Order: sequence, then C-alpha cells, then structure tokens
Amino acid sequence: MAITGRCHCGGVTFTAEMLPPISLTACTCSYCAARGALYAYLAPDAFVPDAKTDAVYRWNTRLVEHHFCAACGCATWSDSPAFARDGAWDGVTRRIGLNARLIDDYDAGKAIVETIDGRNLW
Ligand SMILES: [Zn+2]
Repeated sequence: MAITGRCHCGGVTFTAEMLPPISLTACTCSYCAARGALYAYLAPDAFVPDAKTDAVYRWNTRLVEHHFCAACGCATWSDSPAFARDGAWDGVTRRIGLNARLIDDYDAGKAIVETIDGRNLW
C-alpha cells in the first residue's frame, strides 16, 4: 500500500510505501520544536519525492537534511541517521522522517504521538 501527500503549493509531492501511520513522533530539539512537524518514519527506498521546489536546511552536526518547500515554506521531510532511542547510530543506516501533516486524507492530529528527547540528545 502507498500513501501520497503534498506541500501546500504542490511544488513538492511524494509517494511512500507504507500504511497510514497510527503513531507519529515529535522531537523536542530546538529545530523540530520550531518546525512543528509530526514525523512518520520509513526506509529511504520506500519514499519517492517529486520535489521541484525542494530546499534543505542543516544545523549542528549537519548529519540531518531537513527538507522544506522553498515556495510555500512547508516542512516536508527529514533524511537522517536512523538514531536509536538513546541517540546511538551505526554510522550507515538512514531513515526518512516524513512530515505526516502533509499526508493526503489523513489527520495527524488524531494519531498517537510519541515524544523523543531531542533537546538533550542532539
Ligand atoms: Zn510548496
């Protein structure tokens, strides 16, 4: 099964091989807290963006690519190391943190939200 979504202006659209997520992740790091995204995680090869207006922001360690739409400003996805809950990483595996608020016909506000302690991890 695949889900689809788009930013506000449609400059960025995506297809993801996953079920509509039941639970999402919020991160308390200084950037995610400002960005306000609720993340659905998936493997990079399950995510197919068509991102004509894509832009990227990196900060701190610069290991995470925070993508957003340069036209309408929506947070779209983050491409990051697949960090464990304690912040550990195998140095290889990456994951996509899709902004679930952009998923078509889906209400991110009704999902179970798990909060990770990004403020103290990175
Ligand atoms: Zn846009």
